[in-house]
Amino acid sequence: MTYPWLEQVESEFAERLNSNRLPHALLISGPAETGKLNLAIEIMTSLLCLQNTHPACGTCRSCQLLASGAHPDRHFITFEEHPRTGDPRREIVVEQIRRLIASLYLTNTISARKVALIHPMEAMNTHAANALLKTLEEPPGDANLILVSDDPLRLPATIRSRCQNLHVRPPDRENALMWLCDNSDFDQHEAGDALEAAAGSPLAALRIMEDGTVIQYRLVSETLDHLMSGRVAAGAAMAALADVEPLQLWSWLSLRAAAELKTVLAEGNKAKSLSLLQAAADRSRKLLPTPVRKDLLLQDWLIQWSRIKA
Ligand SMILES: [Zn+2]
Repeated sequence: MTYPWLEQVESEFAERLNSNRLPHALLISGPAETGKLNLAIEIMTSLLCLQNTHPACGTCRSCQLLASGAHPDRHFITFEEHPRTGDPRREIVVEQIRRLIASLYLTNTISARKVALIHPMEAMNTHAANALLKTLEEPPGDANLILVSDDPLRLPATIRSRCQNLHVRPPDRENALMWLCDNSDFDQHEAGDALEAAAGSPLAALRIMEDGTVIQYRLVSETLDHLMSGRVAAGAAMAALADVEPLQLWSWLSLRAAAELKTVLAEGNKAKSLSLLQAAADRSRKLLPTPVRKDLLLQDWLIQWSRIKA
């Protein structure tokens, strides 16, 4: 088992493995930092395990080779260094996919299958995706592909339609907080701030608590509160935020604006309900001289009133 919020997708996979209903290509998608790569590695280990179980046995020759980092039937495609400059590339290029395809057609040596893991899939450029497409359509009989993506909508539809999707959802706030408190020395309050700063991803929240970034998030959040209530002016706020890394700052500003928008929309819904209830009260008052069931009118009105969130 990896993380508790992955249990459902893991058992979904285990069921497919047990009943021999495995697709040649699996797409593991979901928000960033929710443990997708970890899950993909576990799945790859199970597919290569000589016991063919999930979780993998951990003791067979395949599991041991994987643990030591050298397994001839395992292929891991991610960013490579540029052969001339030595700089890491920012995309997965066609040469990598061509090499992968060639090795998928070789005979496997240890396991019953060959498994290729591609991460992050959305970093694959168009040439590379086109080269992969044919293999996705007609994969060699014993090859399995696992594609991992934060942003599956950026993948060509032709790629997506040829994969079975395993979608990873982050846990709800309550479960995320529980997991964070169990796995760190931080209290509920700190974990709550970190979870907010990490847009709900518990792994990102843990990382920013451990590296201290959460302190910066608090500074940003407090500065925005003070600006909104008029306690500080924009100039002072700018000075307070001067040391926050710009990319991080803008993503937090976006998160805060989205959270405020949610509150305002909820307020808007409340205003609408109240205006409808006022009209209903006026209508009911006018109906009093008629033979209408006054108890039902009142009951209905009170039920509607009770549903308005404080
Ligand atoms: Zn094994």
